[in-house]
Amino acid sequence: MGSASSEKAHAVCVPFPAQGHMNPMLKVAKLLHSHGFHITFVLTEFNHRRLVLSSGQEAVRGLPDFQFQTIPDGLPFSEEDATQDIPTLCDSTSMNCLPHFRRLIAELNEENNNDSRPPVSCIVSDGAMSFTLDAARELGIPEVLFWTTSACGYLAYNYYRHLIDRGLIPLKDIGNVSDGFLDAKVDWIPGLMKDMRLKDFPTFIRTVDANDIMLNFVVQEMSRASLASAIILNTFEDLEQSAIIALEKILPPIYSIGPLTLLNRNEISNESPTATITASLWKKDDFCLEWLNSHHDPCSIVYINFGSITVMTNEQLLEFAWGLANSGYHFLWVIRPDLVKGESSVLPLEFIEETKERGLMVSWCAQEEVLMHPTVSVFLTHSGWNSTIESISFGVPMICWPFFAEQQTNCRYSCVEWGVGLEIDNNVKRKEVEELIREMMTGEQKGKEIRNKAMEWKESAIKAIDPDGASLINFERMINEVLRN
Ligand code: UDP
Repeated sequence: MGSASSEKAHAVCVPFPAQGHMNPMLKVAKLLHSHGFHITFVLTEFNHRRLVLSSGQEAVRGLPDFQFQTIPDGLPFSEEDATQDIPTLCDSTSMNCLPHFRRLIAELNEENNNDSRPPVSCIVSDGAMSFTLDAARELGIPEVLFWTTSACGYLAYNYYRHLIDRGLIPLKDIGNVSDGFLDAKVDWIPGLMKDMRLKDFPTFIRTVDANDIMLNFVVQEMSRASLASAIILNTFEDLEQSAIIALEKILPPIYSIGPLTLLNRNEISNESPTATITASLWKKDDFCLEWLNSHHDPCSIVYINFGSITVMTNEQLLEFAWGLANSGYHFLWVIRPDLVKGESSVLPLEFIEETKERGLMVSWCAQEEVLMHPTVSVFLTHSGWNSTIESISFGVPMICWPFFAEQQTNCRYSCVEWGVGLEIDNNVKRKEVEELIREMMTGEQKGKEIRNKAMEWKESAIKAIDPDGASLINFERMINEVLRN
């Protein structure tokens, strides 16, 4: 190995193998690359195959100093979409991946393996892949954990242990989910909003089983976070100051470096060699951007997308469909092929007929490009953190229908704390969908307040990634204080 190359920092980036984790990790990897790091981006073999299928071999070719590598996820090979089964994946990766990861790092560090590749000098791993901490400790190199959640969601996860100690979870009876038990206020957690209820906690508390995989996985991963050199979050200080301060008191140094969507846009030009690298597990429909371009009225289109994991019944799909149709607005609706549970989605011919002039349905889109499009006015979302912070970044108010994990927390904060959203009842009805869309589009009181608030948060998000903004400064501090240290 030449001495010049061995001076270059080499970061191994390990996302959790789901779309909402791979996207923000890829952004961090590109930013590190633009700061002179050699990058190894670790995919599971399963997702590597999916990436090739959705975007072609080109997607994983990488660059001489930005390479893709794979490890198995520990699950038996399946043609089915195993990445959607989150508990199985959490269980399998934490039980099986470490030896494969160790082997990969040993190969990367082999002398004469590749002249231009410097030895691994640090690890940036998803917080839910904490087995990587063992490898970092063995090598004596720093590791930063990336929690791809909101700070408020992450703080709520950190208090699962306390909820257990207080006897609140596991639930005594699964009926507690609907009998009002979850309405209880939880106002004793420093840094969380005072209006937080048990039902606003990430949904893995909704179990009666003390051995529940996700409940135990969360508790385990929260306690292992204390072994990290530092933790990064895709949020910004103005948005989540109290939660960030509270996290700083109980964890290794926290660096808030978001919104990553804006930081990437600022720091990585279209000419950058990494600009074309994506990690999309579904094939993007490019026509929808042309379709948006063919519209000219600003803020006239409703955008609906429930992310990569949410599933619903066909009845729920129909309520959304008729709510949209009855609102009378133009819409872009992303319906993943597996959005409807156990069957394929069936929309009635009358709906298709009635909306054919003003609605477009596709199976996957370039969401950030859609959200930044001037014609898009409202985002009907499942409140996944990436979708939420992307929407905040582009000033688009949200109608929230959270599905699972910390989406419930994000929804509560969006609607109450940040004032950028309205919540749809879990038992979705077409009338409510229609009314909330109208309120968001043209409401003169609540709707207007929310639209204004969304613009204010957009300004604040842009400020965070300015040359003297807190998130850019935090990102550079994290590199100098932790990764290059
Ligand atoms: N996304 C996309 N196109 C789509 C749907 C989603 O590019 O049609 C991206 C979206 O921009 C976000 C991620 O996939 O970065 C979804 O993450 P999120 O946390 O919102 O939800 P999850 O999929 O994890 O439930």
